[in-house]
Amino acid sequence: MQKNELSPQLDPFALAKSLAGRNLIDGALVPAAAGKTFPVVNPATGEEVSQAAYGEAADVDAAVASSVKAQKAWARLPSRERGRLVAECGRRLTLHVEELGRLIALETGKALRTESRVEASVLADAFVFYGGLGGELKGETVPFNPDMLSLTLREPIGVVGAIIPWNVPMMLMALKIAPAMVAGNAVVVKSAEEAPLAVLRACQIMNEVLPPGVFNILSGFGPECGAPLVTHPKVGKITFTGSVETGKIVYRAAADKLIPVTLELGGKSPMIVMGDADVDRAVGGAVTGMRFTRQGQSCTAASRIFVHSSIHDEFVGKLKAKVDAMVMGDPLDEKTDIGTIISHQQFDKVKSYIKIGTELAGSKANLCSAMPTDPKLAKGLFVQPVIFTGVDNDSRIAREEIFGPVACIIKFDDYEQVIEQANDSEYGLAATIWTRDLRTALDASRRLEAGIVQVNQNLVVQPNISYGGVKQSGLGKEASLEAMLEHFTHKKTVIINML
Ligand code: NAD
Repeated sequence: MQKNELSPQLDPFALAKSLAGRNLIDGALVPAAAGKTFPVVNPATGEEVSQAAYGEAADVDAAVASSVKAQKAWARLPSRERGRLVAECGRRLTLHVEELGRLIALETGKALRTESRVEASVLADAFVFYGGLGGELKGETVPFNPDMLSLTLREPIGVVGAIIPWNVPMMLMALKIAPAMVAGNAVVVKSAEEAPLAVLRACQIMNEVLPPGVFNILSGFGPECGAPLVTHPKVGKITFTGSVETGKIVYRAAADKLIPVTLELGGKSPMIVMGDADVDRAVGGAVTGMRFTRQGQSCTAASRIFVHSSIHDEFVGKLKAKVDAMVMGDPLDEKTDIGTIISHQQFDKVKSYIKIGTELAGSKANLCSAMPTDPKLAKGLFVQPVIFTGVDNDSRIAREEIFGPVACIIKFDDYEQVIEQANDSEYGLAATIWTRDLRTALDASRRLEAGIVQVNQNLVVQPNISYGGVKQSGLGKEASLEAMLEHFTHKKTVIINML
């Protein structure tokens, strides 16, 4: 093998081809029932890298039937044994982090060094974490009557449908299926049409460990594959991550069956930088919080940055300098900090918001980071990060989720007013405040309307830290022991009369 040649396993192009046109049902890689496929495109070049199976209702039926069959035996295993197997999946996935990172970089355009490899590690970590919680599926005894024993049991729901988006598909899949399986459920995953391959490869690795049918994965589009999964009579729970619009469709369909739903939806998260903040730290926090490395395609992106007027110019200057220094380019190149937008549809949407912002009275568009010059990336979906200054909190770019590298800086003077403005949003996913004053930090932590508030730092998703939004950002929590107990089990009450 020549020095720069990758082993076939680490070559994402070869790996993508090896998975072409397959779903994983009942432990086997199979084509869609109708034999249809759709292209998977490298967003950095516009080239087709593989085909994915075009899953439809017949494939959903086959996957659910397989899960129904497998779930009974799975649920009868001791819960710690289920956990041991899930943790073993995590250990195997750890051995494949490099390969999975390369594959997800290829299909999503997320830079390997700054994003994709990290996501593959979090995937493995989530399985190891939840695998250790098999013994925690505990009920409680309830004081009732001296002659009666009242207790609760945590029981699996049955078959869970998991629908995931493209921005961090491996991580989000793990945070859904690992707890669901440890709790004794079987799962059918519907991957995102933009990123079907890395999740399929991860499932292929898990398939070495878990019994057939305990999980199945289908690729396909929302109406043809996601919708029949939600409405399938044998699916007893839906866990969904995606846009507010789709989340509402899923919620309505699930309501007709009266099944529980977890929804992790969009955001427009505020970051408040007080006048007494450590400016350099806050600037670093804005870069990670805005997730420029992922072209801003993050649900928790700190896309509304409120900066106190006393430090505004210093903050903006330093932020621009930091983003300017980031290298945009081939996602698979180790030198690259920032990769691409996922699809033409998202690219057009982001560009249209940049146009809206540019035309906004009083605002100024500060363009950052040079565009890549490599001719092979000429058709790549690269968007130059933009820091808008002079933004009004009521403008569309400050209110609507852009899901691109577009930061809005909003200048403020008054603390009470900034808390009000930060909360003046239909979303409530995440918020941060940057200050050296303990009283301000504590007060804001209580008053900011968000599922997670952080002080002087930005979100790093951890499998043991509960995560989820309020308002239009969703329903229910993901990650943590609580998410497993509350969202993937039924609490059954048992009362025993001892007389
Ligand atoms: P999307 O809503 O377009 O799609 C999400 C998934 O739903 C995809 O798998 C899609 O095929 C499926 N789907 C579409 N129509 C469906 C239907 N009728 N029935 C069932 N399934 C259907 O979202 P997206 O563009 O893939 O992802 C971006 C969105 O996800 C953003 O709004 C982002 O904020 C959100 N997101 C939220 C979190 C979180 O944890 N809160 C994390 C990541 C992304």
